[in-house]
Amino acid sequence: QAKNKGKSAYERFAPEMKEVSHERLQIESRLRRALELDEFELYFQPIVETASGRLIGAEALIRWNSPTMGLVMPDKFIPLAEETGLIIPIGEWVIQQACAAASQWQESTGLNLSIAVNVSPRQFRDPGFVNVVQRAVNEQHLDPTLLELEITERLILDNTIETADILRRLDTMGVRLSVDDFGTGYSALSYLKSYPFDTLKVDKSFVRDVIIEEGDAALVKAIINMAHSLGLQVIAEGVEEEAQTHFLKAQGCDYAQGYFYSRPASGADFVEWIRTNHRAHV
Ligand code: C2E
Ligand code: MG
Ligand code: MG
Ligand code: MG
Repeated sequence: QAKNKGKSAYERFAPEMKEVSHERLQIESRLRRALELDEFELYFQPIVETASGRLIGAEALIRWNSPTMGLVMPDKFIPLAEETGLIIPIGEWVIQQACAAASQWQESTGLNLSIAVNVSPRQFRDPGFVNVVQRAVNEQHLDPTLLELEITERLILDNTIETADILRRLDTMGVRLSVDDFGTGYSALSYLKSYPFDTLKVDKSFVRDVIIEEGDAALVKAIINMAHSLGLQVIAEGVEEEAQTHFLKAQGCDYAQGYFYSRPASGADFVEWIRTNHRAHV
């Protein structure tokens, strides 16, 4: 009876619904307990300046250390957290932890490293969201320009006054705003000129074959040029090979992130990575 749009996969397949909604309830209560028992952990992946290789910051990526399932990746539980609304307390935890981490790095390394945090649509629209961000920044005495919130095109294209208002309030606060997975949504590009974004993150699906596929190379070049014309900076995601870094450097891409530099690492491993790879700066 209900329209498919906005419904979860579970709700769409009516015959299995009873069984699956039981499973879903179980996962929901496990996620809730995970938050109480402190089983979530932030991993960090370095973001470097393409031209110099200099470290500028990191993206925070959530992991779930489940006693029964082991290390669970975000693709396995973030969609469920989003559907159940648990993304709101989980997302608040992420923002607090991320700001705390950035403030600790400043103390332990003396570097003004930025921290990028993924924000999901439901979390973004929660009436308390802007306050959660403000509080986390204040509590950690963090320069707000060091916090970058990553938002996907999917969220932006739901072009409401509300979305515009939240973005404007965040921008006024001084935090930086980026478009994650750029190029994978239905890009009505007009939002780029009307919303206060600072950065485009080129999706890794374009970066992957940039050396072997002319089409991908052309798209990445065009995205970089368009972004710069609009006064936006560009981060290439999913950089795995040195040849890709040469291409990106030649095209003037500002920043890069990917396994070539480092896989996402625990907080302790990330600081260790800074000490071994950026000793000159520490
Ligand atoms: P994303 O924000 O686009 O994050 C980049 C993903 O690409 C990460 O996957 C990262 O580990 C992976 N990656 C980085 N470098 C490379 C590379 O060179 N090659 C390849 N193949 N992959 C690379 P991860 O950590 O599994 O996260 C997946 C997605 O889960 C993220 O995509 C983001 O949308 C979501 N996510 C992660 N943490 C959070 C969070 O705290 N809150 C919310 N709402 N979403 C999160
Ligand atoms: Mg991201
Ligand atoms: Mg701004
Ligand atoms: Mg991405």
